Amino acid sequence: MPRHPKFYMRDGTLVLKAGDGSEVLYRVYRAVLENQSVFFEGLLSLPNSKVDSLAGDGKKWLEEVRAAGVDGTTDETALVLPAQLATKELDAFFDLMFYGSWMDAQPATVDACAILKISHFLVVDRGIRFAKRHLDKEDALPAVQRLSLGFSYGFGDWVRMAFDELMSVPINELTPEEEETMGWKAYRALARAQAEVLDVRLRLAVARIPVVNHVNWCYNHTWCQAEWTKMWTSMSGVLGALIKEDAPGAQILENLATYDRGGTTEECFRRTCEGLQDTPEKVSILKEEEGVVDREVEKLLQALGIPSKWT
Ligand SMILES: [Zn+2]
Repeated sequence: MPRHPKFYMRDGTLVLKAGDGSEVLYRVYRAVLENQSVFFEGLLSLPNSKVDSLAGDGKKWLEEVRAAGVDGTTDETALVLPAQLATKELDAFFDLMFYGSWMDAQPATVDACAILKISHFLVVDRGIRFAKRHLDKEDALPAVQRLSLGFSYGFGDWVRMAFDELMSVPINELTPEEEETMGWKAYRALARAQAEVLDVRLRLAVARIPVVNHVNWCYNHTWCQAEWTKMWTSMSGVLGALIKEDAPGAQILENLATYDRGGTTEECFRRTCEGLQDTPEKVSILKEEEGVVDREVEKLLQALGIPSKWT
């Protein structure tokens, strides 16, 4: 049986065997793992109510190990790790556990994901926090993957973060693989939220055309307003931007001054755009869109039994 070149330690006290088919042997420090992991702690102190209250694959594995009666003191009596924990992933995890690698540096995304997976399985709080902190960065994970990991690990904030990002991806542009990864519940919630936001935007575009704030020397208020309305309701103006969903409503209002003002008096246009920046109108538009997303994410988390705040 091959011994791991780095993690078969000379003075190690616990022998583990990779269950992923590689048969690689690890000899590591039992006490360190016991300190950090609820599962390894549970291996020694039987019965352990902390472990018994846990559910899932990890618990199943622990019961199998207990039933096998191995103690991990020699190569022959190695504890066989579950098949879903790959040696590459274990390496990243042990690197953190025993060498404190990356404590000051950046782990690669793939290593952080591996640490998160193993730590979650073995209930190693420190590993979970370490990996999550690195993967919390917005560009660390593609949205669909973040969503799916958020479900797996119960990270409500990741679900929310991914959902926000996916709001700008038209639902029909998702690939079948992405649909499958995110699951039908999330897919349906996203479709619903996108349709609802579009509806909010259409109402905004056609039913809430702002009134121009004319300067006193604007010689034709009716014409000036009509030109403003044209800008607001054209496909190259606000309506178009809202329908194409290339930016959140609040962003569109911020960019207002860059649209073609047509025949609107320049100063009237400038004043009206400026006036719309910090009005309750803007706030309500922003809130309406966000409210739609909030509601869908909240419903989704509830359906999946995930708390919306991860601590
Ligand atoms: Zn005017």
